[in-house]
Amino acid sequence: MNGNIDLEARYCAQNYLPLPVVITRAEGVHVWDDAGKKYLDMMSAYSAVSHGHANPRLVRLVIEQVAQLSVVSRAFYTDKLGPFLERACELTGQDMALPMNSGAEAVETAIKAARKWAYTVKGVAHDQAEIIACTGNFHGRTIAIVAMSDEPQYQSGFGPFPAGFRLVEFGNLEALEVAINENTAAFLVEPIQGEGGIIVPPEGYLKAAQALCRKHNVLLIADEIQTGLGRTGKLLACEHEGVQPDGLILGKALGGGILPVSLFLARRDVMQVFTPGDHGSTFGGNPLAAAVGLEALNIIVDDDLVGRSAARGDYLIKALRTIASPLISDIRGRGLFIGIEIEPSLATARSVCEALMARGLLSKETHDTVVRLAPPLIISEAEIDWAVMQIREVLGEIDRLRLAS
Ligand SMILES: *Cc1c(COP(=O)(O)O)cnc(C)c1O
Repeated sequence: MNGNIDLEARYCAQNYLPLPVVITRAEGVHVWDDAGKKYLDMMSAYSAVSHGHANPRLVRLVIEQVAQLSVVSRAFYTDKLGPFLERACELTGQDMALPMNSGAEAVETAIKAARKWAYTVKGVAHDQAEIIACTGNFHGRTIAIVAMSDEPQYQSGFGPFPAGFRLVEFGNLEALEVAINENTAAFLVEPIQGEGGIIVPPEGYLKAAQALCRKHNVLLIADEIQTGLGRTGKLLACEHEGVQPDGLILGKALGGGILPVSLFLARRDVMQVFTPGDHGSTFGGNPLAAAVGLEALNIIVDDDLVGRSAARGDYLIKALRTIASPLISDIRGRGLFIGIEIEPSLATARSVCEALMARGLLSKETHDTVVRLAPPLIISEAEIDWAVMQIREVLGEIDRLRLAS
């Protein structure tokens, strides 16, 4: 029995199924539970904690900024928003940005931008604009976003849904070309699907998708909320294929593991569809969040978190591939964004995560069969060695138990 677990069970909506651990403190790549037990965090809040917990530069900045200025709304200018957006545009090669808080809000912003661009620039007929998304996508949880999902549970019981979305198979270019028509505003895609199970599309897919979008005057919008900001070993996962999207969505790690900070970034002609009153958010772009976002970006550059993700990700995936276990049916990913596919007839990913937790390694399953490994980008090789040893031993144990029963 644990008082905090009981309280959440009684008072919190049961929309998650957390592992039974109560975390009370965190620093760097580690977290501690209420009994003082230490864990290596290989989950990093779905990639929101790429900078490590309680990053000292961010902690210092937050304490200073919170005492100076936190929230005034965008009814006024501040000394923090402009510099943050300038840096974000400079690093991503985009022209302009619109600040939001959660990832889902930034995706909604992208959808609104794409639709209004379709009507006012491309010339699509009134209310006919279509957005193409991919099977297996995850873009968040609002009604419009789950309208794009093909995960039955995300939609079941929540209809009716807005129209104007089409799905094509992720990785299938012919399906994309067939789906594009004169009403298509945008193709919205995750360069690597995260919640879908760390799914890397075929080589050249994004590049060819970009060419198709150009040919048909369709916006290519990359949802890099999870893959962006170094997670896959490049600043943006689109860079693996030399693709510059027309619209880009960032979130998660943009808040430095401290605050929700998200952005929709785009070319000038796309962003200029917004006029005063079209769209907004009370907290979006607040000076505290903007200061955190700017520092989060600067730390990624100063500490070479992108290079570290590439090198340590390579190191981790090679070490994982030395594990000989019938429970592993696939290991895939890029940078420190790795999924271990568990053979479903032999074990569940959840049972692997629970056994890892008992040994002090936190991870989370996605889609029943995939163990996700996405540690803070500051993880060291020694910490990776320790993690791989735990994974090797847990898989060995589960296999022995299975054979014995
Ligand atoms: C997490 C995520 C979102 C949603 O972000 P929230 O901050 O949870 O709203 C959207 N797209 C992708 C690719 C994500 O991984």
